Amino acid sequence: MQRRAEAYRRDGKTIGLVPTMGYFHEGHLSLQRRARAECDAVIVSLFVNPTQFGPREDLAAYPADFERDRALAEQERADVMFAPSRDEMYAAGHLTFVEVERLSSKLCGISRPGHFRGVTTVVAKLFAICKPHRAYFGMKDYQQTVIVEQMVRDLNFDLGIVRCPTIREANGLALSSRNSYLSPEQRAGAGVLYRSLCEAQRMIESGVVDACAIRQSVIHMIQSQPEATLDYAEVVDPRALEPVAAVEGPVLVAVAAMFGPARLIDNVVAGRYMRAN
Ligand code: AMP
Repeated sequence: MQRRAEAYRRDGKTIGLVPTMGYFHEGHLSLQRRARAECDAVIVSLFVNPTQFGPREDLAAYPADFERDRALAEQERADVMFAPSRDEMYAAGHLTFVEVERLSSKLCGISRPGHFRGVTTVVAKLFAICKPHRAYFGMKDYQQTVIVEQMVRDLNFDLGIVRCPTIREANGLALSSRNSYLSPEQRAGAGVLYRSLCEAQRMIESGVVDACAIRQSVIHMIQSQPEATLDYAEVVDPRALEPVAAVEGPVLVAVAAMFGPARLIDNVVAGRYMRAN
């Protein structure tokens, strides 16, 4: 992969990297399309990264369909699908990890300690292997994108991060490979996440500044859904990811909840004068 990437660079081609854990849905494909539109060579990586899963998480159960993914990446005209084995990525004796402090221990970092350390480590490795000029990340995983951007700045990676919008089902549920764990009732119930975020957005746009009231509205809506077990709902500064007391500029409203075996996350950025996601 490194030799191929080097050859693209020698030929003056811009390389776009789309890191994924596979089991593609329209969210993954939207990133691939954006990379295809913006870059000369598109590398789609597929690696279910063990270091970002906790000991009681779903690494063993994580859905996979390599042949389908390969066909889809081909349809999107990716140049390379890079799918290394676990042993290739983490050879015996691997000792080096990358950790972005502070940002990694907030929001999802609280219930998933070590998760973002695994993410930044594997993403740093993928950057060193695939040598991209641009790497594409989805806003569904807002915290992950912010952490990767921080790592790129701090470690002087010579590439740009492209933020891509969240793709959703008709009921608002953000597409996720983990949605395949959901029963029909859970899938229908999980629409509450985005509904609660839209209500938060509506409150903010109508002038509510009390972050506590906005957060309580989100919590109340999610807790009223019998299929949901709330992990967190927070109103935070979109860069520092620190809770805010009052909505004075753009804020990130972020939620995580379990629906049966699936831990689902979602978010919106809201604020007067702006709308995102
Ligand atoms: P994953 O395979 O879940 O690690 O996701 C790979 C990339 O796809 C990450 O940058 C995700 O943020 C992005 N992604 C996942 N779900 C969506 C979605 N519903 N819309 C847009 N991007 C997504």
